[in-house]
Order: sequence, then C-alpha cells, then structure tokens
Amino acid sequence: MLSFSLFSGAKCYNCWQNWHYFCPQCIPKLQIYEGFDYASKRPSKNFYIDKEYQKDFSLTQVIVLTHYHQKWVKTLLRHAKFYGKYAAYRDIILPFSPFFNEYLDTHNSLLVPIPLHFLRRWKRGFNQSEKIAWVISRIVDISVCNTLLFRKKYTKHQSHLSKAERQTMLYSAFYTSKKHKIPKSTTIYLVDDVVSSGSTLLECANTLRSEWFTDVRAVVLASD
Ligand SMILES: [Zn+2]
Repeated sequence: MLSFSLFSGAKCYNCWQNWHYFCPQCIPKLQIYEGFDYASKRPSKNFYIDKEYQKDFSLTQVIVLTHYHQKWVKTLLRHAKFYGKYAAYRDIILPFSPFFNEYLDTHNSLLVPIPLHFLRRWKRGFNQSEKIAWVISRIVDISVCNTLLFRKKYTKHQSHLSKAERQTMLYSAFYTSKKHKIPKSTTIYLVDDVVSSGSTLLECANTLRSEWFTDVRAVVLASD
C-alpha cells in the first residue's frame, strides 16, 4: 500500500525501519491489554466496569489498546501529539482492527473525541483525539461527533499534577452544545490517546451524564 508515511520520512518508533511509524514487523511486539475493569483494576470481559463500581464511576466501559510504559509507544504517542506526526495513529490503530471490532458496539453509537480548548487546538493545529477517532471510525463504522462536547477551561498540561489537583482543575471544564439533537439513548464512546488518572474521561462522562446520556464509555490507545 502506497501510503502518506512513505513520503513523510516516517521511521518505525521501535526498529527505525523506513516507511511506517509502526512497521509490520513490529506489530506482534505491541503489548495488547487483556480485558480489565479500569475502575477496580480487575480482569473484566470486554473491559466492562463492574456494576458495583459504576455507582461512583460515570463510565460503563473503558477500552484500552496497549501499555504506555513501552518506551517506543510513549515516544510515538508524544510525537504524534506534540510534533504533528498524527499519521502515526493510523499505523498503530489499523493493524489492530480486530481488537476494535471485538470491543466496540456499533449499534446506536457515536465516537466523541475529548475536546481541546479552542486556543490549544489553534496552537496545535489539530485535536489528537479527533485524529484517533477518525481512524477508529474507518474500522468500526461508528460516526465521529465533534459538535456535542466542548471544553471551556484552558487548563495546564496535567502530567505533573496529582489526581486531586487534576480533578480540581478539570471541574466544570466541559459543556455540551445546546443545539445538538442526539438522542440520550446513544452510546457515547469518548476517545483519547492516553489515560492516566482518568480525571479527564470522568469529567467528560460526568458532563454527559448530567445531560442524561445514560451510556458513556471510553476508548483509548494507551494506559499507564
Ligand atoms: Zn518496526
């Protein structure tokens, strides 16, 4: 397949071969997550959250592809986000189409990228979660919706903050459009690149739940 990455000087983040950010030879080396419950951290078929935990957790399912601790995965995802190498998302997602097909339910669902504040989006030139959502959408036949959820607070980068600090900073950071006509019974898949404390996903889910969306889930590329 003649791809964009062929012309972009792409090199595999694991073995440094040319042409792909993540080459076919390295595909078997990606550590795929076994199903687990993100809230209890226990094994869970299909990544569903245990009912007992759902009382205090706004998400019903958190699907995670891989582990962020693999150094080259971390570098690939950081470069995709901060250096505009978002073509790497396609290289790391498309080979795992069966994974996304297995765990995402296409019936009455939407992919909703975690929104950036408009200033950050303007500075970066793109929203990384939206890029990821579009690639996943090619696999699972679920539409991407970027007109439902918005971010009103311009927040600092959160990587060095504690969980409590993140929660405080993100409180009321998001809102939903008053114009949307999306049925509340729609399954919403929030899409993000990395989940760490889960504060951002939970705050987005809380915002949607407060608007009476009953089934809010998440799909992310990596978790630390
Ligand atoms: Zn490689």
